[in-house]
Amino acid sequence: MTGTPTAIVLGIAQDGGVPHAGCFCSTCTSFHAESKQLFPTSILIRDENELHIIDVSRQLDAQSRSFGFNPRDITDIWITHGHLGHIDGLGLFGKEVMGLRGVRLHASKSMMNLIRSTPRLQDLLETGVFIESIFESNIEIRTHGGLTFLPLPVPHRDELSDTHAFVVRGPRRSLLHLPDHDQWELTLKNHGHNSIMGWLSDLRVDVALLDGTFWNEEELPSQALVPHPTMEESVRRLGLRNANSPDIRFIHINHSNPILMDEELRQNMHGWALAEQGEAFIL
Ligand SMILES: [Zn+2]
Ligand SMILES: [Zn+2]
Ligand SMILES: [Zn+2]
Repeated sequence: MTGTPTAIVLGIAQDGGVPHAGCFCSTCTSFHAESKQLFPTSILIRDENELHIIDVSRQLDAQSRSFGFNPRDITDIWITHGHLGHIDGLGLFGKEVMGLRGVRLHASKSMMNLIRSTPRLQDLLETGVFIESIFESNIEIRTHGGLTFLPLPVPHRDELSDTHAFVVRGPRRSLLHLPDHDQWELTLKNHGHNSIMGWLSDLRVDVALLDGTFWNEEELPSQALVPHPTMEESVRRLGLRNANSPDIRFIHINHSNPILMDEELRQNMHGWALAEQGEAFIL
């Protein structure tokens, strides 16, 4: 692995995972019956001397045992936003569990304010478990190992904090991680584009992991309260995959999304696919 930065998909589920607490839908029941589990979305990036993780879920232990890394080796944490599954693993770094010191915690000012105003998390900064590192939207950060992280602001219910996607660039390839946003129209408009492909091409990304929370607008009774672009819309906007297309995969899949159980639907995605847990991309 030396010298070759690699991104590994640690989870492809929405914050609640699959099976989902308190849910007895046919998907959750069948996943449980077959002892299968989808972890909340999170990405690990191995570099020669550093181990970065984007978003940290409470499933960090199972993710590390399944995908072959030691969470004690994590040097840098990058946070997209303050919703449950993206930050509920932060406490594992403190004295009740791993008791680590000096892990760099990268977050926006608004996200860091949320951490500082949450006593349980504030304590992790005060006691040196985490070293605060505040990033600015649209300003690229270069790591010691030479990777760069570009935080892109995206519209997403910001009752707790703002939200960022990240573009991670390595020597060979670049990856976009966009687990949550409210709608394509606004995201694209905010970045001066009207097509997903135009935006991805402008960002020069080779791999894009996109919000695939819902398939359509008819999955949950209160779905309007948790806006996400549907996969139906994303696939329509992307059009047919061709030889020159970037590698686009969907992540952050909700247990209600029929794509998890419907093989026929999966064949109907214009050549695009779900990401798989444990799959690796050379950067
Ligand atoms: Zn989420
Ligand atoms: Zn369910
Ligand atoms: Zn969210």
